[in-house]
Amino acid sequence: MRSPRRFGAFEQLEDRSLPSSFGVAWADPGHMTLSFVPDGTATPTGPSSLFASLTAAGTTTAWEREILRAFQTWAVNANINIGLVADGGQALGTVGAVQGDARFGDIRIAAAPISADEAAAASPFSWTGTTFAGDVTFSNAVPYRIGNVASAYDIFSVALHEAGHTLGLDHSTAPGSATNATYAYHAQLTASDIAALRALYGARLPDEFDLLGPNDTRATASAMVKDATVGAYVADGDLTTLGDVDGYKFKAGALTTITLQAKGLSLLQARVSVYDSTGKLVASAAAQDSFNNDITLNLALANGATYFIKVESATSDVFGIGSYRLTADPNNKAAKPLRTPPVLDAHTNDTLA
Ligand SMILES: [Zn+2]
Repeated sequence: MRSPRRFGAFEQLEDRSLPSSFGVAWADPGHMTLSFVPDGTATPTGPSSLFASLTAAGTTTAWEREILRAFQTWAVNANINIGLVADGGQALGTVGAVQGDARFGDIRIAAAPISADEAAAASPFSWTGTTFAGDVTFSNAVPYRIGNVASAYDIFSVALHEAGHTLGLDHSTAPGSATNATYAYHAQLTASDIAALRALYGARLPDEFDLLGPNDTRATASAMVKDATVGAYVADGDLTTLGDVDGYKFKAGALTTITLQAKGLSLLQARVSVYDSTGKLVASAAAQDSFNNDITLNLALANGATYFIKVESATSDVFGIGSYRLTADPNNKAAKPLRTPPVLDAHTNDTLA
């Protein structure tokens, strides 16, 4: 039997001139981002080989999903949203914003040489830190698989442990904790893990609409507010539990575009359904995965009539929870009558007559 191996400690990635510590929450945990660094991206111990290193575990989509699922498993327990963003390949630790740097995620996932007895390492948030904060480096020298496979590390279990560090949690000695210092397979968090997370971030709270009262039905649907600058109805909401249903109403245009944006905001897989004033379903669409989780519906509706939008989870796993921005644009340009193309030369003056 393989002897348990120690997980990585944050020192591997930490800028030693700016020591950070655990126990500090991210500045804006509701708007965090994550990116997978392209192979060849510079790290302190050599170029990243994330994609090459994890290819034995399965397809890119499969192992990326396991890492996202690990972060999301923490996030759903607090007011934390982690949106997937592109990574520009700048060196880890590049000078920039600790959170909100547009070139890459707050959390960057890489693989590179780390200490021989470690599977991965992660850096917590630090006010005085660098863009290293949040970054996770998997070892490029140990075997990874998806699931509890002998003589290999389970990607989800390792990512779950490192995500705890990224969110500011130190090692725990509580039985079964995902942040135990020694490797073990974990299917989920323990109650002590969730308590430790909530001690830093609090519990996940309903969005501003749900705080005013349930808006699950047409009778209680929240009126969307029209944004004067864009001329569209906008609502920033959150599916806070798998059972949460958010209802909205708005006045339609003849052609209305309804968009639920989740990409870059959270890992939510939502379903959007549109009903007319009699409760008849007009249209419905769901995100298929957390990589492409925006939804767009272009609908021909009764101009000036009130319609209802229902937002609910499209999946019963952790990806059924997260924040989103819902937009209903009744001014779809396609709704305007087509202009007759200007006639430059109708050939009515081609002759002298
Ligand atoms: Zn650790």
